Amino acid sequence: MFICKNCLKDKFLKDYLRDYPQKGKCIICRSESHTVTDIEAEEFQNLFKAVVRYHYAEYHYNNHWGGAFGIEGILLNENAIIEHRFHDEGDSDLLYTLLPKDVYARDGNGVSLYYGFDEYIRGLFTTSLQKENSKMISTFEKELNEKNHYVVEEKAKSLLEPLASQIENKISIGKSFYRARIGFEKRYADLLNPEYDKITYYYEPYREKNIQAPPPPKASAGRLNRQGVSYLYLSSDIKTAVSEVRPHPGHLVSVGKFILSREIRIADLESINLRKFCTDDKIKEFIFLNSIGKKFSMPITPEEREQYLITQLFADTFRLLEFDGIRFKSSVSDGYNIVLFDANLCKYTNEESDVLLCEEVKYSIRGINEGVVFDKEDFEEY
Ligand SMILES: [Zn+2]
Repeated sequence: MFICKNCLKDKFLKDYLRDYPQKGKCIICRSESHTVTDIEAEEFQNLFKAVVRYHYAEYHYNNHWGGAFGIEGILLNENAIIEHRFHDEGDSDLLYTLLPKDVYARDGNGVSLYYGFDEYIRGLFTTSLQKENSKMISTFEKELNEKNHYVVEEKAKSLLEPLASQIENKISIGKSFYRARIGFEKRYADLLNPEYDKITYYYEPYREKNIQAPPPPKASAGRLNRQGVSYLYLSSDIKTAVSEVRPHPGHLVSVGKFILSREIRIADLESINLRKFCTDDKIKEFIFLNSIGKKFSMPITPEEREQYLITQLFADTFRLLEFDGIRFKSSVSDGYNIVLFDANLCKYTNEESDVLLCEEVKYSIRGINEGVVFDKEDFEEY
């Protein structure tokens, strides 16, 4: 039985299909004109289960826990995994006898969709993989409150060393990135030709060393670097670079372009590939790495800077594992950030240097206590 590329919605499944393309009829749209893939293949089955767990907690799909209609209940409505546009409802019944063929992993191989029994009690996967936070992270955070970072570092290194190859990625020489700084170098006015009510200004951007990473003595502590350590923070595009310096409306921001002067090896936390983690044991590794990635991307207010300790710890660890830098999602824009441990890996170019006006900043708010029934008897100040 096959599904075509247009009927798969999830990015990991789409990526799988690109590697295992076949010809055939899609069970969902019934078309024969698109590339399809065999959903009965063992690798597809395991990835499918991992993808369900990536998007959904078990109580959404296990009817023992209230997921009233099982996996079908999710897939028969709008969902994150496949397009729901069956040509014939009978086809959907057929599909769900095979997706998945087996909800458990057998003999320690593959992925379990249900948690199953712990001794005598039925357990459940309480959180989707993308939202789950590894307990390891909070253990590290607790330790960092009591011990110096270099004491904790060895443990972080021994945990991450065997996982390094799973998140390793290369970026080619010549790739360009952007960096922003609030302010500008100089302002000029056109005084020879002034209109009575309006002077035309030209803003010269910060260039060269004025937009590069500061020298170590001037480097203040950041999300990834400790005080006095100079890393080069870059973004994938101009808008992300500008957003990362958190300008207020009305701020003028200089941007500069930087070009990689050699191929680099990065710890890529922006796009951790679930396909590399399709056994129950490996899924635990995925949760750990994904939780580190979320720490890098999490918005932190300036008064919470002590929270940098955990990201600084992992940055140091990746540096010890001989990565050139780290890539992670931006928390304030759609692009990604990349931090290089050696600022000389990139060369500044004047090409797109410019000054931009921050016209508007949009805020998104929600009630933080929503859904919480607060009873002082049950809660403790924390
Ligand atoms: Zn299709």
